[in-house]
Amino acid sequence: MARDYYGLLGVDKNASDTELKRAYRKLARKYHPDVNPDEAAQNKFKEISAAYEVLSDPEKRRIVDLGGDPLESGGGGGNGFGGYSGFGGLGDVFEAFFGGGGASRGPVGRVRPGSDSLLRMRLDLSECATGVTKHVTVDTAVLCDRCQGRGTNGDSKPMTCDTCGGHGEVQSVQRSLLGQVMTSRPCPTCRGVGEVIPDPCHQCGGDGRVRDRRDIAVKIPAGVAEGMRVRLAAQGEVGPGGGPAGDLYVEVHEQPHEIFTRDGDDLHCTVSVPMVDAALGTTVPVEAILDGATDITVSPGTQPDTVVTLRGHGMPHLRSGVRGDLHAHIKVVVPEKLDHHETDLLRKFKERRDREAAEVRPAHGHAGGGLFSRLRDTFTGR
Ligand SMILES: [Zn+2]
Ligand SMILES: [Zn+2]
Repeated sequence: MARDYYGLLGVDKNASDTELKRAYRKLARKYHPDVNPDEAAQNKFKEISAAYEVLSDPEKRRIVDLGGDPLESGGGGGNGFGGYSGFGGLGDVFEAFFGGGGASRGPVGRVRPGSDSLLRMRLDLSECATGVTKHVTVDTAVLCDRCQGRGTNGDSKPMTCDTCGGHGEVQSVQRSLLGQVMTSRPCPTCRGVGEVIPDPCHQCGGDGRVRDRRDIAVKIPAGVAEGMRVRLAAQGEVGPGGGPAGDLYVEVHEQPHEIFTRDGDDLHCTVSVPMVDAALGTTVPVEAILDGATDITVSPGTQPDTVVTLRGHGMPHLRSGVRGDLHAHIKVVVPEKLDHHETDLLRKFKERRDREAAEVRPAHGHAGGGLFSRLRDTFTGR
């Protein structure tokens, strides 16, 4: 059964934080082991400290106000919250409505924190770059508005379960090939809680929560990337018995972009440049992710696969906002068809180049003519 934390501190249920603190200090001065080494006093000190710890934490206090005991959640160690906030098996969007509670180890708390939920969200690259607020509808467990999570129609208090005597589990003896086997299972009457609500709420059946659709505005910060999760505190499932809601996690799934590929905060794209432009040099407009059309400079004599980097035109960093770079990979395009006139021009161009190469060689001897002609000269002994 839930402990009377308010009674331990000698305050009433409406006590403010200041009143709680004052009551705790007064008692702590009286029972502190330094002042009062007697064993009973030490136990009393532990109790009032636990009571203060619970009541000064809004979530734990809420559990107490709903008739639960946050230090008795069952299964979990430490602060009593362990084991309930994990993701569990994440199937589709939301699951685990009546989560966990399988292991039979004494009664589980009637009021427990709710499960976290996961929502997957598709974003295109520009949404990742600018950040975006998206409205989503989630089907989740919310606080029952009829009983406000108390689980009862009126003011009736939870009572010890008759079926299991408050243990939360029932034992049965079964005959098997190995003889008689004693098995324990969660009590079917109280679902392992050890308590029943005598007058369960007509809307939620005593669970303190109902399933409902809820519209949530999810604010995605600029700079998010594939697989990142945005946490929305207390937007997950409301817990059994109206316990505090878990968190909602929104996982980002970045859709492939038709122009850019992303590498951290850097972006890469391919820019096609006609052969003649690569030779003569030009400027080419590139549609940068946050900056609209931006010109990149292709210097005269640019080779295929040259990378031109535009500093600060990539994605913004999630925390610092500092932009990465945009790397434009130059693809030199050779014309597939030439008309007579163009063929003529290129022939003339070639002839001129050949003539120049022939003129250069004798004048510069071994130094000119490029690698191939130098090799040839070496082998022919010129
Ligand atoms: Zn029971
Ligand atoms: Zn209800």
